[in-house]
Amino acid sequence: MFATLSDRLADTFKNLRGKGRLSDADIDATAREIRIALLEADVALPVVKEFVAAVKDRARGEEVSGALNPAQQIIKIVNEELVEILGGETRRLRYAKTGPTVIMLAGLQGAGKTTLAAKLALWLKEQGKQPLLVACDLQRPNAVKQLQVNGERAGVPVFAPEPGNGVGDPVGVARASIEEATRRLHDVVIVDTAGRLGVDAELMQQAADIRDAVRPDEVLFVVDAMIGQDAVGTAQAFLDGVGFDGVVLTKLDGDARGGAALSIRSVTGRPVMFASNGEKLTDFDVFHPDRMAGRILDMGDVMTLIEQAEKTFDQEQALKAARKLSGDGEFTLEDFLEQMQQVRKLGSMSKILGMLPGMGQMREQLENFDDREIDRIQAIIYSMTPAERVNPKMIDGSRRARIAKGCGRTVTDVNQLVDRFFEARKMMQQMARGGGMPGMPGMPG
Ligand code: GDP
Repeated sequence: MFATLSDRLADTFKNLRGKGRLSDADIDATAREIRIALLEADVALPVVKEFVAAVKDRARGEEVSGALNPAQQIIKIVNEELVEILGGETRRLRYAKTGPTVIMLAGLQGAGKTTLAAKLALWLKEQGKQPLLVACDLQRPNAVKQLQVNGERAGVPVFAPEPGNGVGDPVGVARASIEEATRRLHDVVIVDTAGRLGVDAELMQQAADIRDAVRPDEVLFVVDAMIGQDAVGTAQAFLDGVGFDGVVLTKLDGDARGGAALSIRSVTGRPVMFASNGEKLTDFDVFHPDRMAGRILDMGDVMTLIEQAEKTFDQEQALKAARKLSGDGEFTLEDFLEQMQQVRKLGSMSKILGMLPGMGQMREQLENFDDREIDRIQAIIYSMTPAERVNPKMIDGSRRARIAKGCGRTVTDVNQLVDRFFEARKMMQQMARGGGMPGMPGMPG
């Protein structure tokens, strides 16, 4: 699931690597690639259009963050927009205030309703609920038996019509099940209904009649994610015919391209609440839009870094440094030290390394970076006079020897630091002109 989409998006972001600033043309090209990626993933066209427009708008308008490079900024925007179209907040089940909570399942035959009923029952049982499964799929010859077998595996009782009694009357069975649940103190009732291979009026009517009989707290529309774009049309038909509160996506373990997952919320206005991803009863979970977006972007680590960087990075200081470099002031050894301390705040170097895309050469330098180096540099800089920190050019041979003595390092260490500083300043001035990340380049090699 999502493999192609993930790859496509990763390629798109790769093209942004090393760019100092995004031109309108870059943004347009990126938007085009995202559009193709989504269309190939079978996302509904109106959803694609809206998504791409939002990303483009924000990429143009977004304040340039000192903490993120352009590729990271785009990833961040795409991630946030993905979470949004997937439904934003995780939607939890609503339980009835009095009497049993009634959950009704609707969907096409083969969508995975009967399997899901048992999965949901097991999941509820594990949370201390006492569910009752109700077999109202009296159409498919084997459906009742299948629910009974699955119910047994889940350790959850199944309410079904006696053979030869009530077989043609799913509405009657549904109604009776609520009485049974109330009598036996079940707190959740899960009603499995019949599906057809395609949408038809009779099926819709039956589902609507069951709905009216049991007055469910939640109607869940169960849909096979593998059917792609068709999922959207089917969802619309069920929305009109029966209505539903939430969606369950099944067969997410298959090689579905993801279109259903990405379109359904926008098209129907109903959130995906659960996801089913296998044939085992435990292959089931609450659907979390943020985690799903993370899976699509396949960049959990990068997102963590982006959040961390934004939290830690002192925007003020970065701007101050950038201003100095653009000619408003002189970049000093103290600024140099401050920048390194900021980088350290992001966490241990090696951890950051695994997370940074597009750092290229810098990455190699960072890989050999020793965290204690910052302490040594700090000691040397603190042994200098304030005037020397502002203007390192004035540090002559004898001063270098005094500084080395003052901090317990060698003259070579002091020389190296001063050389590095001048190199870093040159590099930063170049980056500042190109609009690159002002926070990172002070790194010693
Ligand atoms: P129903 O007609 O809607 O009740 O669908 P079923 O529950 O009978 O499921 C149809 C088929 O899909 C069965 O063979 C299930 O084992 C299979 N199935 C259901 N959910 C999943 C899932 O999440 N992943 C996979 N791989 N198969 C599933």
